[in-house]
Amino acid sequence: VVWLLVVVGWVVRFSPHIMMGKSLSLVLVLLCVFSLSFGAPQFSYHYASPVGPYYWGSIDPDCNGMRQSPINIETSQVLDIQEEGDLTSTTPTTPVTTTGVNVDLTFKVSVPSSTQQNSILSGSTLLSEAYNLIQTHYHSPSEHTIDGKYYDLEAHYVHQHKGTGHLAVVGILYTIGAPNPELQPVASAALLVPGDGNTTSFSTVVSLPVQSTFFHYQGSLTTPPCSEIVEWFVMREPLTVGQQQLDSIRSVWINQGEPMNNRPLQPLNGRKVYRYVKDYSFNPSAYNGVNNWANIWSTCGGKRQSPIDIAPLSSLPSPLPPLASTAPAWPVDQMLKNKDHTIQVDVDPVNMMESVLSGSVLLSEAYNLLQFHYHSPSEHTISGHSKDLEVHYVHLHEGTGQLAVVGVFFNLSSHCNPHLVPIVNGLAVANSPGSQTPISVDIRVPISLTSPFYHYRGSLTTPPCSEIVDWFVYEAVQPICQSQLDTFILNMDKEGFPTNRPTQPLNNRDVYYYHPPPSPSPSPSPTPTPTP
Ligand SMILES: [Zn+2]
Ligand SMILES: [Zn+2]
Repeated sequence: VVWLLVVVGWVVRFSPHIMMGKSLSLVLVLLCVFSLSFGAPQFSYHYASPVGPYYWGSIDPDCNGMRQSPINIETSQVLDIQEEGDLTSTTPTTPVTTTGVNVDLTFKVSVPSSTQQNSILSGSTLLSEAYNLIQTHYHSPSEHTIDGKYYDLEAHYVHQHKGTGHLAVVGILYTIGAPNPELQPVASAALLVPGDGNTTSFSTVVSLPVQSTFFHYQGSLTTPPCSEIVEWFVMREPLTVGQQQLDSIRSVWINQGEPMNNRPLQPLNGRKVYRYVKDYSFNPSAYNGVNNWANIWSTCGGKRQSPIDIAPLSSLPSPLPPLASTAPAWPVDQMLKNKDHTIQVDVDPVNMMESVLSGSVLLSEAYNLLQFHYHSPSEHTISGHSKDLEVHYVHLHEGTGQLAVVGVFFNLSSHCNPHLVPIVNGLAVANSPGSQTPISVDIRVPISLTSPFYHYRGSLTTPPCSEIVDWFVYEAVQPICQSQLDTFILNMDKEGFPTNRPTQPLNNRDVYYYHPPPSPSPSPSPTPTPTP
């Protein structure tokens, strides 16, 4: 009966092709193949098999399509998307009772319908359309490759749009390493279904580890019928799978004489692959880490990057007047934000309009104070030496979008800095990533603007590293006590990495040094000399 149903299924499947004039003999050939391999999967991964991956086009012509999966993802060719592109999944993170099936040469975890309804993938190109998680399954080695590299395992989280039937599949890559607790229920259950069609009931978490960095392209199912109805999202950072876990999962298809169940790579045929990177990291070894920014955000590899090492003896005297600011000379209420990699005070629109920076190369153009934030150790260095903390006062020219940033150094001292007290106190409240609290704070640059400073043209010191900044780095160093510095450091990078970008090549840029003219005096006084 099962055999008859399957045959009827195949005839029904091919009848549209027959009606469109496709070959009837194809159906007959398939029925023969099928009757010979009764009970077995309808395709094989053996290259030499008559139903092997290079012959899948005779199982379904869609397998010869122009938008097939999997593909190799060539990171030098991807297009970067820097806008809001997050994927979000509402799949419950608590265990649910699922059915594990040995089917189609893989281990498939069927998500119960009640959980499907609560498990919605949205965001990125899916926008607000609801794709429900219906099943997960596994391939080893991986189907997708990144820069030609195969991974040891690839999980596919298959989401279906109830209206259109289209799929959104999230691919998670794994390399052999520490056993992965989330994979253990799957690995154990896989051992209970040695034969095709075997099922087992087991409890597991089906939520997927969505990452903020992933690749996206449009492709197909990677098994017959190879339908080109899939939005693919391949997460960038591989997770680990224990060797024993991998062996257990692979036993599902190895037991059926198939040592691997990954389809060969398919041609891109002009398709675009997109890369989404939500965030950057100061972890030098992370994919989005400080040493790799230029590979992700091309402007970070530009010729006018910041910060720089300032060499006082090579700087040129500035003939221009000093900076001036109209920021209020009393404390104002602002929002203190504990951000992913910094502590930031956002200036409200009223005080922003009131606080205008001008002078030096800015001339009489109006640059409004947007925010100020901190880095530790300092980003700029003087003669190769860094300081313990650096604050950046970011001013925006509304018309041109150019920035003027004032940098001030702090060094460890036995004296606490009264100027930093409102911020340190605010961090006792806003003490977790993403939290914020209102504070009353003096938003003026904590140094006389007419004291000596260096000026040069550079960039943002975090991605996208846009080269739109006139930098003003003050020479004098302010005090900060140990407890204040500890509070900043503890709150600025949750992974414990320093929050300063390394200094960038000067590339023949000029650095100017401003110092006040000698005050008029009846007796002749020596010209002040720069203190290096
Ligand atoms: Zn798959
Ligand atoms: Zn900064």
